[in-house]
Amino acid sequence: MKLYNSATRTRDEFVPNDPSIVKMYTCGPTVYYYAHIGNLRSYIMEDILEKYLRYAGYNVKRVMNITDVGHLTSDADEGEDKMLKGARRENKTVMEIAKFYTDAFFSDCAKLNIKTPDVVEPATNCIDEYIKIISKLMDTGYAYFAGGNVYFDTSKLDRYYVFNDFNADDLDVGVREGVEEDPNKRNKNDFVLWFTKSKFEDQALKWDSPWGVGYPGWHIECSGISMKHLGEDLDIHCGGIDNAFPHHTNEIAQSESYLGHKWCNWWVHVLHLNVKSESGAVDKMSKSSGEFLTVSLLEDKGYDPLAYRFFCLQSHYRKSLVFSWENLDNAQQSYQKLIARIAALKPEDGEFDQAAADALKARFSAALDNDLNTSLAVTALYDVLKYKTNDATKLAVLGDFDRVLSLSLLAKAAVKREELKKQVVAAGEFTIVSESGESDPAVEAKIRARQDAKKAKNYAEADRIRDELKAEGVEVTDIPHGAKWKRV
Ligand code: AMP
Ligand code: ZN
Repeated sequence: MKLYNSATRTRDEFVPNDPSIVKMYTCGPTVYYYAHIGNLRSYIMEDILEKYLRYAGYNVKRVMNITDVGHLTSDADEGEDKMLKGARRENKTVMEIAKFYTDAFFSDCAKLNIKTPDVVEPATNCIDEYIKIISKLMDTGYAYFAGGNVYFDTSKLDRYYVFNDFNADDLDVGVREGVEEDPNKRNKNDFVLWFTKSKFEDQALKWDSPWGVGYPGWHIECSGISMKHLGEDLDIHCGGIDNAFPHHTNEIAQSESYLGHKWCNWWVHVLHLNVKSESGAVDKMSKSSGEFLTVSLLEDKGYDPLAYRFFCLQSHYRKSLVFSWENLDNAQQSYQKLIARIAALKPEDGEFDQAAADALKARFSAALDNDLNTSLAVTALYDVLKYKTNDATKLAVLGDFDRVLSLSLLAKAAVKREELKKQVVAAGEFTIVSESGESDPAVEAKIRARQDAKKAKNYAEADRIRDELKAEGVEVTDIPHGAKWKRV
């Protein structure tokens, strides 16, 4: 499988350090508020990566943190702890806020068929790990104590900017934007490993440490949690593109300085979900500004959360994706049509056709082997419906693809099939189904007229109508209690 690596800026052939297990780490949510559907785009694509690795035969151990302390309002260690801000907003304790929004996050993930990682670890559970890493960084001169906080000294590194897409001047702006510079820092990009002093003395969660009572910085949590559960090396580390700097850059700096060797081989970043503002400017969806859309809001507006998943799969994870209601409407319609087409397949039709299944699976794997090209994988899904083989094989192959795509294709199609059956039984009358899921009143009227002719034993008229439809490119097949049609 070829997988783009932000650290090398190339699509490299993916080879895990140890073939028996792929070690994968994902930056988890900061649980001070609901996740928006932009955050969830990242989690959907990371879910696909994990599931495809498993599909391709790898054993995967995936770890994710829950940020419940230390992520300040600016990614550059300035401002207030986001958790504290959330607690104040809702008049609750930090831990109540963390529990509520962690549960909300996993409930959104469940609606989007995002699997829960093998290990989910809150940052507040691993204070000892952070203290161990920071102590060694202090001993080896990579960290220093100033003004009450412990900082990582970025000047000790030969190469700090590992994701070379940035240049030092751009980063400078990113760090300073809207925030005062911390006078304790020796170098502009130095970052806090452990806070004992901040402008906000009411920090709720504090622990004892060799440097005084305080709390960890945001970056150290991902290094500590990853090493606790995955050891000293990592195959894949994922996150949204905004995490590349400073978060992942700082994770690499502190982890490799601590370990004395390379830490993670693949850095996989998902590009943003963007929204258009009223002024027409396009910007990333964010928790702090602009339109904030959640899964519950989509549901309230009548959308199936899996239609949003389908929408995300139709574009490549390394391209930013613009959200609009029109785009989501289109995705929902396509998704419903897809389900209707699958519902029209007959599970009892034919014996499993291995050759057809192999050919179809090869297309699917080729798409995902190509840097996780999910839009081509969706095309491979439609190829199954068009392929010249029996329905039983098509259903088996669709079920196989859905181990990765997780669109609940077979379950939803089975429900739809049952609904159709019930309608027929309840009404005891004639049902017309289109294989594509579309409805066309003109075609349906002719099919009904043909049925009336058959009932009246006027077979010549029934055949005439069938031929007329055929001439219009519509093929009709009789099914129990009705007829099925498709455009040919
Ligand atoms: P946070 O809860 O802010 O720590 O973010 C959780 C994840 O969502 C991180 O991996 C972010 O990089 C990612 N993320 C944030 N905003 C967006 C967005 N608009 N589109 C895609 N991913 C995002
Ligand atoms: Zn992280």
